[in-house]
Amino acid sequence: MHCQVIIVGAGVAGLSCARFLEEAGIDWHLFEKAEGPGGRVRTDEVDGFLLDRGFQVLLSAYPEARRRLDYAELRLGSFPSGARVFSGNRWHTFADPLREPTAAMVSLPVPATVPDLWRLAKWKFRTRGKDSFSLLEQPQQSTADLFRAKRFSRKVRYHFLEPFFRGILLDPELRVSSRMTELTFKYFSEGSACLPESGMEAIPRQLAKPLPLNRLHFASPIDRVAPGAVELADGKRLEAAAIVLAVDGTEAARLLPGLPETGFHKTTTFYFDLPALPPQGRWLHLCPDDPGLRPLNHIAFPSAVRPSYAPSGRHLASVNLLQPAAEEEVRQGLRRLFGDRVEDWRLLRRYDIPRALPFRESLQPPQLPSEVDRGLLLAGDHRGLPSLNSAMESGRRAAVTLLTGQEPASD
Ligand SMILES: Cc1cc2nc3c(=O)[nH]c(=O)nc-3n(C[C@H](O)[C@H](O)[C@H](O)COP(=O)(O)OP(=O)(O)OC[C@H]3O[C@@H](n4cnc5c(N)ncnc54)[C@H](O)[C@@H]3O)c2cc1C
Repeated sequence: MHCQVIIVGAGVAGLSCARFLEEAGIDWHLFEKAEGPGGRVRTDEVDGFLLDRGFQVLLSAYPEARRRLDYAELRLGSFPSGARVFSGNRWHTFADPLREPTAAMVSLPVPATVPDLWRLAKWKFRTRGKDSFSLLEQPQQSTADLFRAKRFSRKVRYHFLEPFFRGILLDPELRVSSRMTELTFKYFSEGSACLPESGMEAIPRQLAKPLPLNRLHFASPIDRVAPGAVELADGKRLEAAAIVLAVDGTEAARLLPGLPETGFHKTTTFYFDLPALPPQGRWLHLCPDDPGLRPLNHIAFPSAVRPSYAPSGRHLASVNLLQPAAEEEVRQGLRRLFGDRVEDWRLLRRYDIPRALPFRESLQPPQLPSEVDRGLLLAGDHRGLPSLNSAMESGRRAAVTLLTGQEPASD
């Protein structure tokens, strides 16, 4: 086979690249080792429940996603702005007073000081509307140091900021670059955290929908990559004028020795079937790093945000950990948080995801160039920030570089 471009990997980066090449009339083919598209964004249907492979959300303010996805067709449901935090053996609603004023009023007092609330508001107004590039050019430090530098109290860090950002960054130590945290906070401030009606996999499926099926080759792992050629696991050699390697950072380093290897943060999600939601189930529930709760970091009830996540009359809990643990350990923590009702929660499935998000202790430069050798380009979340937005953007950048011969400027 000979074509103009071969793409390796049908995650959102590879699919996004394919969409641009297809629109430009390029002769491309995509090879993916799994049996379907999506990469790290897959959803399984189990007993009528929709189980995303690990809890994740689409931030509606993501600029690349807004440009490329049809949000109306995804039928997004959104989490309220803020979270439930656990302090003094009970839940409090820590709500954004501008977007959820009623919840913010009725839930006082929250485990935070008045200066904390002021500093959070100031941070929000400073990042909202600011262009991403300037946030990514700021001096960087670890996220844990950023919270101390902003003089947030231990109370608000422990109950809200740390579990919230541990849940997003999947980094137990919060060593991730403050640039990533600033940018993520900006997107949270400008929009909502959303779930599509038919699960997160609806996102890559929407990207794949207009692509001709005869160009998408699933269950086709690539074993070797070189400028101008790839080799399938069965030994077949395929040639192209350009190759776009849109696999994760570890796989990219295996296929192209010499590339720096990326380490990964891991996560584990337990899904439970529940007869009823706990009070205020639409909110994200955050667990402080308390020895009695320890394996738990955050809990969400996706069916409260999008009822299609559970069959009629049932609900779904997504219980998230930053390291694997036994079911009984998880249940012990849940009993402290939700009491005896947990006895009625039935385990549906657990997902252990060892390669969830690439390490990002330093972000320099914010988006690495796509072309690493003549006709050999890289895409994927390891080229920029670990997010759906950045992965999609990297796919577009690789395609535009191929089409114009020039790396496009960053957003
Ligand atoms: C649990 C979890 C939670 C997350 N939460 C969020 C969130 O809330 N918000 C957010 O924005 N992002 C989140 N992310 C990150 C986001 O999902 C990723 O950044 C994004 O999906 C990465 O897409 P990608 O295309 O770069 O890589 P991938 O999705 O990893 O795609 C790479 C593809 O390449 C294929 N492949 C690998 N090797 C080969 C080979 N040799 N031959 C052929 N094919 C190959 C793989 O099978 C895969 O399909 C989360 C990720 C996880 C796992």
